[in-house]
Amino acid sequence: AAQKETLGFQTEVKQLLNLMIHSLYSNKEIFLRELVSNASDAADKLRYLALQNGDLYEGDAELRVRLSVNKDAKTITISDNGIGMTRDEVISSLGTIAKSGTADFFKNLTGDQAKDSQLIGQFGVGFYSAFIVADKVTVRTRKAGESEAVEWESQGEGDFTIAEIEKAERGTEITLHLREEESEFLETYRLRGIVTKYSDHISIPVELYKDPVPESEGPDGEKIEAQPGEWEAINKATALWTRDKSEISEEEYKEFYKHVGHDWEEPLTWAHNKVEGKTEYTSLLYIPKKAPFDLYNRERQAGLKLYVQRVFIMDDAEQFMPSYLRFVKGLLDSNDLPLNVSREILQDNKITQAIRKGCTSRVLKMLERMGKNKPEDYQAFWNEFGNVIKEGPAEDFANKDAIAKLLRFSSTHTDEKTQNVSLEQYIERMKEGQDKIYYVVADSFEAAKSSPHLEIFRKKGIEVLLLSDRVDEWMMSHLTEFNEKPLQSITRGDLDLGDMDDEETKKAHEESEKEVEGLVERVKTALGDKVKEVRFTHRLTDSPACVVADDHDMSSQMQKLMEQVGQ
Ligand code: ADP
Ligand code: MG
Repeated sequence: AAQKETLGFQTEVKQLLNLMIHSLYSNKEIFLRELVSNASDAADKLRYLALQNGDLYEGDAELRVRLSVNKDAKTITISDNGIGMTRDEVISSLGTIAKSGTADFFKNLTGDQAKDSQLIGQFGVGFYSAFIVADKVTVRTRKAGESEAVEWESQGEGDFTIAEIEKAERGTEITLHLREEESEFLETYRLRGIVTKYSDHISIPVELYKDPVPESEGPDGEKIEAQPGEWEAINKATALWTRDKSEISEEEYKEFYKHVGHDWEEPLTWAHNKVEGKTEYTSLLYIPKKAPFDLYNRERQAGLKLYVQRVFIMDDAEQFMPSYLRFVKGLLDSNDLPLNVSREILQDNKITQAIRKGCTSRVLKMLERMGKNKPEDYQAFWNEFGNVIKEGPAEDFANKDAIAKLLRFSSTHTDEKTQNVSLEQYIERMKEGQDKIYYVVADSFEAAKSSPHLEIFRKKGIEVLLLSDRVDEWMMSHLTEFNEKPLQSITRGDLDLGDMDDEETKKAHEESEKEVEGLVERVKTALGDKVKEVRFTHRLTDSPACVVADDHDMSSQMQKLMEQVGQ
């Protein structure tokens, strides 16, 4: 072999390795799931490229992953005949974390192991999980169609070595040199158990070598035939989403999610549908439990895994989900798109649009159902993803009503910060004669809750939604009514709560207005052009005065936002 080179890991990889080894130790068997998951991805990628260039198969199109152990050397080897990696790909894939925003993320770690280990799930544990059980990992790989092969080796500390090698078989072979105390993984029954538990759904065969059985004699002297040794598949090896819903267990759906979603946690919920008719496709869509650390990063890759007629085409096909549902993970398998479909073709395509429409309403329905049937799960969802859903009314006019049903707010009903009041609940509690949904937007929850504009509402017992997230102002400018009830900011324009007053109150108001006649004029003269108008109001009960925006003017919130961006 040519000379060996030693390279350092990216700092974040060192941090991730350290975190992972400590936080996943109680669940160490998942290393095998991760490595099998990668082998399956590698098979998918090869099959895709081979659509254009069959030579890449090098005469071997039976894609599979094989597990073998060497008890003397205390190693496990996971070997696939998938796409393989070039030298450069090895260095970038197994030496860095290729997600934008990663460095920032790691800066925010607290150093408190318990807390930080929660965060590791946001990365997906991946290849580096091999170091949970191994103190040395050797990766030998050759990319399909290339002649140069490389060997990567590391002890999971600061660096790795890389060297040129000979490798006849295409694909990747990963050898784990097990730590002293991990010998349990040398037992094939143990490996078989882990594969059944985590990787049964992998669509290529996961094989174990069955030792040959020599010819022998049975108890009654009958001859038992010799069995040759052979590789035997130990998983179902059919693509999960092609199977019948009724035959797939919850566990299988959950494990499949970890594979397609590259997530460590279980999903919150999912929907699996075969759509027939004008456009035919299968979708399997998952809602994650936790938001990824880079949910608001514009460069973040999001989208579904796209298959065409069972053949993997691409990851992160972002054309099938609107941006406000960018947290949805899962896959699509289309019967109508051509196998040579590209991102450009997807961009402006009737089939894409039909599928996107179908998937969007599928997700909205799934969320609505969760809101009704599993309010606790829904609250957990809202706490993680509510602010992304709030982008919906502006982005997706056609589904405005469905999105509005999903919204949750803080409100004066409880004065709690938790956003847990739906517009439907608000309407049920509306006062007799009340025809609007009232809300206030402020910089913080505390400011919203103690807004002087609320005084009259509190006095009259009228509920007001309390909004203080950054997107709220923008969202409300796109959400003008719900179930035929207009949404009304209580800091805007002329508020007429008069219909809800009884005769006595109305009379009292008229009298008090007479008492201060002339005051409004005097204030107006004093303030000059600083204000547009000075108005008498019954809105306030304790404060003497407050500033309001005109119905069509920018609110003070929006003005601040514009000032921030330098307008
Ligand atoms: P992820 O699977 O989420 O991308 P991993 O840490 O599991 O993250 O893997 C990192 C990358 O290393 C993969 O994206 C892939 O490019 C490469 N890789 C890992 N295992 C293999 C393999 N068996 N064959 C080819 N490439 C692989
Ligand atoms: Mg992986």
